[in-house]
Amino acid sequence: SVTVRFDGPTRIFTISNQKGGVGKTTTAVNVASAMAELGAKVLVIDLDPQGNASTALGVPHTADLQSIYDVLISDVPLAEVVQVSPESPNLLCAPSTIHLAGAEIELVSQVAREHRLRTALNDYLSAHPTDVVIIDCPPSLGLLTINAFTAATEVMIPIQCEYYALEGLSQLLGNIRMIQKHLNPDLTMSTILLTMFDGRTRLAQQVAEEVRGHFPHEVLDTVIPRSVRVSEAPSFGQTVITYDGQSVGAVAYREAAVEIARRANDDNEKRH
Ligand code: ADP
Ligand code: MG
Repeated sequence: SVTVRFDGPTRIFTISNQKGGVGKTTTAVNVASAMAELGAKVLVIDLDPQGNASTALGVPHTADLQSIYDVLISDVPLAEVVQVSPESPNLLCAPSTIHLAGAEIELVSQVAREHRLRTALNDYLSAHPTDVVIIDCPPSLGLLTINAFTAATEVMIPIQCEYYALEGLSQLLGNIRMIQKHLNPDLTMSTILLTMFDGRTRLAQQVAEEVRGHFPHEVLDTVIPRSVRVSEAPSFGQTVITYDGQSVGAVAYREAAVEIARRANDDNEKRH
């Protein structure tokens, strides 16, 4: 059995990559569910107007419901929009609705427009102890993503092992440096997760080697394989952890969650 502790300060991850379809949402919900299973109190914030994370966590997010949109635009307390996922009492979600698509524009004229999520989240965390927050971002660098970077303590980057994997990565790292300089000096790019890995192809292996060469400390040992069960799960309103807990995808996401938790434990032990 695995022993991991979630006893440090709240870890706030933003899952970022400007590319769509690289596994951001899949990683957000499955790492969240696996961590909840390990005993952590986890909050997923769905910051993508598509609402795919809300769907995968089985959380209602129709246009008539209050959502993270109302938190960002109308100062509704985060606690008022958070719902418990049917996956686990430990797993909470602040859903997105389609209204969030307009927030990108509406935020432009708002006071403290880059800090609104951070302020709302800090208020929430002061009353609702939470071990891990995972923010699922849209695939663009707009004000929603900037709000996520400003609220987070760590960036997690899922990378799909394909030909163009590293394209856009230097731009993403440049954006992170810009955020560190102007908005959030404490932000660290802590974690890279290789997703949708197909070990049968030489290309996937080459890309994985190249990414590990560039980021030896950030890339997790665990790799997420391509698996049909992973892609089927959201249509049942579930993560693969719940949908098929014995499948290779579920096992890999559990290992990734343990590794992410262990790295923090190891870091804390080195520091103390
Ligand atoms: P993003 O949020 O970056 O746009 P998604 O997480 O939505 O990416 O993933 C894109 C597509 O790939 C989805 O249809 C998802 O179900 C599928 N997918 C993600 N990870 C895997 C995997 N390990 N195996 C098979 N399909 C996957
Ligand atoms: Mg997504």
